[in-house]
Amino acid sequence: MNLKVKEIFYSLQGEGGRQGEASIFIRLSGCNLKCDFCDTDFSGGEMLELTHILSVIREFPCRWIIWTGGEPTLQLTGETIAFFKREGYFQAIESNGHYPLSDLLNYTAVSPKGTPDYVRKINPVVDEIRLPVKKGDTIPGFERLPEAKYYFLSPVFTDDALTTRENINYCVEQIKRLTVWRLSLQIHKFISIE
Ligand code: SF4
Repeated sequence: MNLKVKEIFYSLQGEGGRQGEASIFIRLSGCNLKCDFCDTDFSGGEMLELTHILSVIREFPCRWIIWTGGEPTLQLTGETIAFFKREGYFQAIESNGHYPLSDLLNYTAVSPKGTPDYVRKINPVVDEIRLPVKKGDTIPGFERLPEAKYYFLSPVFTDDALTTRENINYCVEQIKRLTVWRLSLQIHKFISIE
């Protein structure tokens, strides 16, 4: 079995419900969407055997994998997740929610893109909804979202500091109004880590 991998790195989860936790990121190549605010290069990559990936991640003193992309569900199968589970790893995923998420995963973070209603039909229960938000975006009601432990608004960061600030301010105002939401900031960008 193999996966097309863009990069593997060891860092802290920068956002959402596991923010600040040490994690091994495995970024899989490819995505089914082309979001205009995408800040990730998921093109290219290298085909790697699971045993090779295992040998790479064993170098890190950590038992948490985060499958990310691109969109990791395009490649990630139950068989692959079971392989790393047998090796003693806990596994989280960062997904846009367009495809079903395996029950074998230990933590599911879904970041709906565009109109979010599709996620509820495909993945009715997840650990975390993390909604990227720009100033003026409509915040969907919970009846349009999956059941989740956490609901985060994540201000979209841009190259323009003023626009980013406006997005943050907008999220803060929405959370003060709709109090089940929490703020998720991408702290890895503030502290300049991967
Ligand atoms: S779903 Fe995520 S990785 Fe894919 S294009 Fe959108 S922001 Fe980028």
